[in-house]
Order: sequence, then structure tokens, then C-alpha cells
Amino acid sequence: MMAREAKLTPVGAADGEMVQIRGLRRTFDLSKPWLNRVIERSSRVSLTAVDGVDFSIREGETYALVGESGSGKSTIAKMVVGLLKPTAGSVTINGTNVWGGKSLDAERQMRRSIQMIFQDPFASLNPRWRVGAIIAEPISAFGLITDAKDRAARVGELLSLVGLDPRDGQKFPHEFSGGQRQRIAIARALASDPKFIVCDEPTSALDVSVQAQVLNLLRDLQQRLGLTYLFISHNLAVVRHVATRVGVLYLGRLVEEAPARELFADPQHPYTKMLLEAVPDIDMEGRERQAIAGEIPNPVNPPSGCHFHPRCPARLPECDQDVPVPQHIGDTTVRCHLFDPPSQP
Ligand code: SF4
Repeated sequence: MMAREAKLTPVGAADGEMVQIRGLRRTFDLSKPWLNRVIERSSRVSLTAVDGVDFSIREGETYALVGESGSGKSTIAKMVVGLLKPTAGSVTINGTNVWGGKSLDAERQMRRSIQMIFQDPFASLNPRWRVGAIIAEPISAFGLITDAKDRAARVGELLSLVGLDPRDGQKFPHEFSGGQRQRIAIARALASDPKFIVCDEPTSALDVSVQAQVLNLLRDLQQRLGLTYLFISHNLAVVRHVATRVGVLYLGRLVEEAPARELFADPQHPYTKMLLEAVPDIDMEGRERQAIAGEIPNPVNPPSGCHFHPRCPARLPECDQDVPVPQHIGDTTVRCHLFDPPSQP
């Protein structure tokens, strides 16, 4: 395998960056209660779901995090929006540390400017509330519009914005299809006028025929409202249609990051190549689809060195011992020993 020549460039904040994730880490304690451990003579068990992840998102772009189930992508999403505290590292959005101490006012402002769209539109909408009340809730909670008439008009505007009828605000969530419910969830997310939205597998619970409509809506809204997205997905075919940049996760580590066009045209990391070979041939190029080889190992006891080494067709002698460090090749960052600079004599 030929590796592209590695050219090291400094890592740091650049102009236009809205979100900066630095050294993000999250471990979970899976130990049994103390008494059980004493009786069974077992030790503590911990799982590192996210292991020192760094990336930045520029204003107006869609940054996609991809990986198999258990790669840590949803854990990252929760830490970014403030739902889960990191064990270490920082999340900075528009210069404010999501997990740093801040005034109530700054906290409120930050909560308003970040929203999340969840995978399951059936679970994320309160079934007992009318759609109008669901969408109006963030408007009231942040005190954005106090007059009831004006608030109702804003709800109608938001419903139109996502392609629904303003009169749909009178109905209940169960009266809508899956795709329509996801539109309602998007309208609700837009109600607080956010600039940054985390989309956690927003189309994976929907029929394939509806997925493209929701993705087109998200893209259209991004252009009209100047939104920035963090897009979480296991589906590279979906990511290909929406992403500006892509980060590939494997067992909690970012193994490759690149502009979407480059990643799909010329993937570098052996794991990214494996994922891409398994994507259905949407361009009808006659390419044969290869199944992903092996399974993601148990994250409680991950393989040493490069976590991917037991599945890697290109593995080197050092791969089961040494953790690869990020190497920068133009706009691509890759963590793989194939790209290590030659050692000095
Ligand atoms: Fe394969 Fe080694 Fe690269 Fe890991 S570091 S992806 S095992 S070649």
C-alpha cells in the first residue's frame, strides 16, 4: 500500500471556526456495586467511549461524524450540546466553553443557540401536546415572544418553513407520518433561532423514500438561515450527500478527518477504505460492494496500540503496540502508522 507523503502542519484554531473540540474524553464506570466486587473478588470496570478527540467546525459547514455503532459518535454529540459532562477536554462554541463556569445569562444564551435533532421523531415529541404547543415551548421558555397571538404566528411561520401547513399546529403528533414528525422536530429546533444544530442520525428511523426529502430540507434550511451542523451518522451514503467535512471514528478515536470530497474520492485510513467499500453503489459504477470485515471489538477491552489492528489488512509490526499519532497530509488528518514520517538515522 502506497501512503501519500506526510507533511506536518500545525493544529490550531482558524478563522471562521464556530466549534472547537479539544482533547475530548469520556469514560463510563461499569463496575458492579462495591459489595458485589468484594464478594466476587472482581475489580472495577470502565469503558472509554471517547478517547481524546479533536476537531473544529467552521461556520456554515456540515461536519459529519461517522462510525459503526459503539464508535462514540452519539456520546460526542451529547457532550457537545451539554447533555453529558466530559471526563476531560473542552467544547467551545463561539468562544464560550460549554462546560466552563459561566453566568446564568451566558448559559441561557448558549442553550438557545445550540439545538439538537434526534434520531427518533416518534420519541422526541410529547404525544399529549398539540404540535403548535410543542413548537411554541422553546419560544416561551427563552422568553422570545410574550404575546400569544405573535407566538402563534411565529409557530405558523416555522411550520411553513419546514414544508407543513400552519393549520397543522392544531393536530397531535400521532396524526403525522414519520417524515412529517421529523419536520415538526426540526421546526421545534428552529424555534429558538439557533445558529448551530447537532443532528443525531436524523433520518435513520425513516423510510428510504422519505430520507432524501428530510436531507434536502436540512440543506435548504442551512442555506436560508446560515446554520452550522454537526451531523452524526453510521451511513456513509447519507453523509456523502450532506457533509462538508467528515470525521471517521473508531472505538472512540478519530482515525481520519478530511473535506468530504477528498475523503470519498481518496480515503487514506484502512478503516475508512473498508467502510467505503461497503457503501451501496449509488453512482451505479458497477463496483462490487464488499462487506465490512470483522466486528467492532468490545470497547470495555479494546485492542492495544491501534484499536483497528485485528481487522486491518495493512497492519505493520508496530500496530499492536504503538498508538498512532495524527499526521497531516494537506487538508487530511490521519491516525495510522502507514503515514508516520520516516525515522531519522
Ligand atoms: Fe492498520 Fe496499523 Fe494503520 Fe492501524 S496503524 S490502521 S493497524 S496500518
